[in-house]
Amino acid sequence: MMGDLGASIVALVSSWAARRRDMGVIDVLRRVERSTRPADQVTAAALQRRWQELPASAQTSGQSVGRHAVGCEGTHGVFPKCNLTCSPCYHSKDANKVRVDGDHTVAEVTRQMVFLRQERGPHAHAQLIGGEVSLLSPDAHAAALAAMRAHGREPMSMTHGDFDLDYLRALVLGPDGRPRLRRVSFAAHFDSLMRGRRGIPRPRSEAELNPYRAQFADILNSSCRCNTFGWFG
Ligand code: SF4
Repeated sequence: MMGDLGASIVALVSSWAARRRDMGVIDVLRRVERSTRPADQVTAAALQRRWQELPASAQTSGQSVGRHAVGCEGTHGVFPKCNLTCSPCYHSKDANKVRVDGDHTVAEVTRQMVFLRQERGPHAHAQLIGGEVSLLSPDAHAAALAAMRAHGREPMSMTHGDFDLDYLRALVLGPDGRPRLRRVSFAAHFDSLMRGRRGIPRPRSEAELNPYRAQFADILNSSCRCNTFGWFG
């Protein structure tokens, strides 16, 4: 006699087949079988490639890359612009001289996401990095985040944190005043080697930066509390 689980699977397959008239029952069953595997096939192949690419000395029992994760992901060199002047900056000497407008940024971020999806599988976290994100217009920033999500990436914006609540508000609320992003995440970098931050252009210690770190946290926290951002946080 068919148990509850069997009946549920039959109901699921029937409803799926009814919706997907272009698919036969065997195709539907294949899909169900694939979607209930512990690891997606494409992800499993990407993990295997990553493992094989590692040097033998890194293929240790404690290694998670190639087994549990494909490694960190991020955009690369798309919008190399920054208004700080830190001495150990990762930018090349061409930073601030090349094209960084919104159309270019969204098109290149999309191209990189297509590549990452193909190489690293359908789902991952990824950083929006390669310049200071808050120098992108809020619309371009939001469009870049949406492009990352559309390709299975959960994005996090990397910033120096020297921006105001107005920027955050314009990012998460569209021109019609309605939320356009279901979630935003930031990684903020504050250290005493950074130069040009408003209010503290040349910090002499890490401790001196604490009020600025707190101010950034307050911006994010106040956006969580704000009625217009009631969905956010
Ligand atoms: S904040 Fe980052 S990108 Fe900007 S100058 Fe400093 S290290 Fe470079």
